[in-house]
Amino acid sequence: MAKAGMEEQSSYDHVLTAEYASLIAMEFGRNPIVNDEAAFDIYPPTTHPDPSTLPLRPPIVTIMGHVDHGKTTLLDKLRSTSVAKGEAGGITQHIGAFSVPVPASSGEAPKTITFLDTPGHAAFSAMRARGASVTDIVVLVVAADDGIMPQTREVLDLIQQEKITAVVAINKIDKPGVDIEKAQNALLAEGVQLEAFGGDIPCVPVSGLTGKGLDDLVETISLIAETQELRAERDGDIQGYVLESKIRKGLGPVATVLLLRGCLKPGAHVICGTHHGKVRTMLDSSDKPVKAAYPGMAVTVTGWKSLPGAGDEVLQGAEANVKKAIANRERKADLEGTMEDLEAINEQRRLERDRREAEEASGASVNNHQVEQEQGPKELRLVVKGDVSGSVEAVVDALQCIGNKEACVKIISSGVGDVTESDVFRAQVAQGTIVAFTVSTPRSVEVLAKQHSVPLISSKVIYSLIDDIRSHVIQLLAPIT
Ligand code: GDP
Repeated sequence: MAKAGMEEQSSYDHVLTAEYASLIAMEFGRNPIVNDEAAFDIYPPTTHPDPSTLPLRPPIVTIMGHVDHGKTTLLDKLRSTSVAKGEAGGITQHIGAFSVPVPASSGEAPKTITFLDTPGHAAFSAMRARGASVTDIVVLVVAADDGIMPQTREVLDLIQQEKITAVVAINKIDKPGVDIEKAQNALLAEGVQLEAFGGDIPCVPVSGLTGKGLDDLVETISLIAETQELRAERDGDIQGYVLESKIRKGLGPVATVLLLRGCLKPGAHVICGTHHGKVRTMLDSSDKPVKAAYPGMAVTVTGWKSLPGAGDEVLQGAEANVKKAIANRERKADLEGTMEDLEAINEQRRLERDRREAEEASGASVNNHQVEQEQGPKELRLVVKGDVSGSVEAVVDALQCIGNKEACVKIISSGVGDVTESDVFRAQVAQGTIVAFTVSTPRSVEVLAKQHSVPLISSKVIYSLIDDIRSHVIQLLAPIT
């Protein structure tokens, strides 16, 4: 009997999820912090205890500079050099990065440099916003005939602020009458410590158009990389970043992943944000299958269940762990959304309370609702939920046109997804109605809405929804006497 009683006490109904616990805490005006450490997720592999014993990896280089100073031309020339040198044959796909071979002395292992060719891309802003810089070396391109320009200064600031190793490429030296020294002096005047003047920033004169000086540039980058001791595990679980992602015909969602550590092979289970997949194939920039990808390489990965976002971190784990981590991350994302909703509700309540207190202080005894009703048009306040953002917008646009000077629709909030408990709270506070357009309402939420006398209108057809809302607005009007 006692045992049955215990079971009764600790039945499922009494176990609170992190979400519910947080909701309750917020109801009491507290600011809950969910301790995620206890929850499952996949984290980057731990740092090696002695990185100096790890194998060297290719440097990852980004070319930056003022518009029209020749970044694209330089990248194209470097890419075609790599194609010509047999690194990649035939037509190349743009995958956000390519590698250029570095001439090696006899007996030396062949080396490469990875050039990223989407520096202005969203992936870079996303990575930088998260403090994840994948660039080891920046090549600052300065056109010899144009000198220092606003974006040149921006790059110089970035290099200084983030302490990035830089190489200056003075470009367009094929142009008649260009003065390389003048360009160097201009850089010096900006505080750039060029090697030629006793500093530590190498400066290489090049022509992206003719290819002159590009071998020097590649060699200079390679020498800098040697001093940087860029080392990473070539085995074990991976850590990488998505450079680009898209749906490709016949391949489904694909993402170019730049590897920073580990070894990626087909069959691996990968996770990126709330997206995951089992690597089906890996392709290089010539669309040739790659059997194994290593640090510094960028490969197009197929096998994703959905499209990962550019700039997001890619990790690897056992299938079951990836699934658990996905569920965990989705729950966390939901909770963050709910928290935002709740903060908005709390804010609304605070405002409501402040107004009531102000009214009480001034001796007013009429209730808020009446004041509003007497002062302006009567409002049918709506919380709108829909299946996709396009349909939510369409419903909101259509509904907020309903009404006249005496009675009208007011949209309290709108959003994508099923009706949630916070929608009910929100509608209750605003004395509003919930509109669920082609989305479902969980049974528990329906019950909550009933308990709080929040009307709920579900519809799948926009015209009948408009009719329905119109008749509700008409009901708000005073009867004609
Ligand atoms: P980006 O905006 O920095 O990517 O610059 P582009 O690569 O698009 O080059 C801008 C213009 O400069 C184009 O007309 C190029 O043909 C030209 N250009 C680029 N590099 C060179 C070069 O080394 N020599 C000469 N003469 N023209 C160049």
